[in-house]
Amino acid sequence: MIDGHSDTLFRITSSQESLSSNSGHFDLERAKAAGIRLQFMSLFTSQRQAGPALEEILRQIDYFEQQMESCHEMAYLIKSYQDIAANFGQGRIGIILHLEGAEALGQEIFILRTLYRLGVRSMGLTWNNRNLLADGVMDARSEGGLSELGREVVREMNRIGMIVDLAHISPAGFFDVLKSTNRPPIVSHANAAKLCPHPRNLSEEQMVALAKAGGVLGATFVPDFISSSSATVKSLAEHICYMIRIMGEDHVVIGSDFDGTDITVIPGVERLSDLAGELSRTGLNQVAIEKVLKGNYLRILKQLL
Ligand SMILES: [Zn+2]
Repeated sequence: MIDGHSDTLFRITSSQESLSSNSGHFDLERAKAAGIRLQFMSLFTSQRQAGPALEEILRQIDYFEQQMESCHEMAYLIKSYQDIAANFGQGRIGIILHLEGAEALGQEIFILRTLYRLGVRSMGLTWNNRNLLADGVMDARSEGGLSELGREVVREMNRIGMIVDLAHISPAGFFDVLKSTNRPPIVSHANAAKLCPHPRNLSEEQMVALAKAGGVLGATFVPDFISSSSATVKSLAEHICYMIRIMGEDHVVIGSDFDGTDITVIPGVERLSDLAGELSRTGLNQVAIEKVLKGNYLRILKQLL
């Protein structure tokens, strides 16, 4: 299985726990046993100023590197599709480093390139708030899209081969990026607004546009994004079925948000098989389920990395 979003690195850098075994939602030992073969891992900071934000991101990269020294028999860092082709299915977990929000860049595109050289292969332009590149989803009221700098950053991401993640960006920014990018973007973790009207969830119009651009949408396990009353694995599966109806089975993936929130409807990576079971019960065929849990990400990563 492939999971497009977790905040484990952010959590264990502050708790100083290990990547191989810890008390959170995700660690390598449990992920391996659960059948995870590729995991996006976020670098995250709530700092809004470039300097402190960059320092916190570099601290997480350093902690990741330290952890990997003792974990290389369980995991490897993915820098290109060749790394996936050489290792996928052989037991180790491939890790893609993702920067969740571009605050650390400030106005400097060289920092984007430098983070790429350090192994970062995916970036969201914003977290929830407005920054120098675009409006986040919680600042969407003014309907601001991409800034000129934001447009330039998207162009450079396209050029160097950094995945563009549109989770957390405002709707105006979302459509601006679709016009600016020449590579398919991802939305790593969000659900369908039609089934749960949370501001982070995508409208049908966004879902159709994302599929048309060749992108993928990662269904997420956060209860508030699944249902305003009672969120369950069954209602998560309903989001996935709805996304497939709107976008087609080639454009839906999963993005757990493990360790990004206290509670997820699947309580930890060791219980991921609950989702596979629930998807089977919806009547979805095995080919579609395999695409959602693995195949779609493999296809798009081949295109993007
Ligand atoms: Zn997030």
